[in-house]
Amino acid sequence: MTITIEREHGLRQHADEQFGLECPYCNVYSHVSAQAVPNVTALLRDKPKHVGLVYQCDACNAPIFLRFAVKEYGTDSVELFQNFVELERPKERFPFSYLPKQTEILFREALSCYTHNSFNAFASMCRRSAMSAFDAIGTDGKLRAFDEVMEAQHIAEIDDDSFEPIKNVLFGAGNEDDLPLLNRAQAGVLLEVMKDMFYQCFVRRGKLSRAIKVRRFFVQEASKGMRPSA
Ligand SMILES: [Zn+2]
Repeated sequence: MTITIEREHGLRQHADEQFGLECPYCNVYSHVSAQAVPNVTALLRDKPKHVGLVYQCDACNAPIFLRFAVKEYGTDSVELFQNFVELERPKERFPFSYLPKQTEILFREALSCYTHNSFNAFASMCRRSAMSAFDAIGTDGKLRAFDEVMEAQHIAEIDDDSFEPIKNVLFGAGNEDDLPLLNRAQAGVLLEVMKDMFYQCFVRRGKLSRAIKVRRFFVQEASKGMRPSA
């Protein structure tokens, strides 16, 4: 894909080279269309090393800010490298309201680290989120969570060697200096395991008890308005 901004024609990007990415607003993998292009005259005069363009998500119409490095300045045009930096990355979602308050704060920060590709900061925050969750569950919290994680390993068919660093992050007894270094793939597995563990320990229970409360409420309301049939 060649992207050029020309004095005469503005942004030149071939239609068949339209590109897509995961939108940070709607989380849909969608095509994007150029929405705002910098002034060419100013670019040719100032010759910045990087250029920002605003695209529009075709799925939800939200603006997506991308930064491109400049490949070459011509007399009347600017050619950009095709690689770009997304200034806003899609956020990882989770039903945070079901988590204990402290766990929620820590896990939100963990997911923010993951979103910004800081995988070892993510691992450290996962350790803190997990410890806070074990405390919140109460007696045997760590043991219960451990059983859930073992179940997840079994369901996902992850071998012991690959799973060892994940277990170490969540259940290791040492201080943070002992945490293993994680790469992108391992961080991805840790992310899914964390979500599943929190889902099993908090979200499932919360959703179920909320749903049952609602059912009981409607039964009680209905019976108030009813008369004995016989
Ligand atoms: Zn979108």
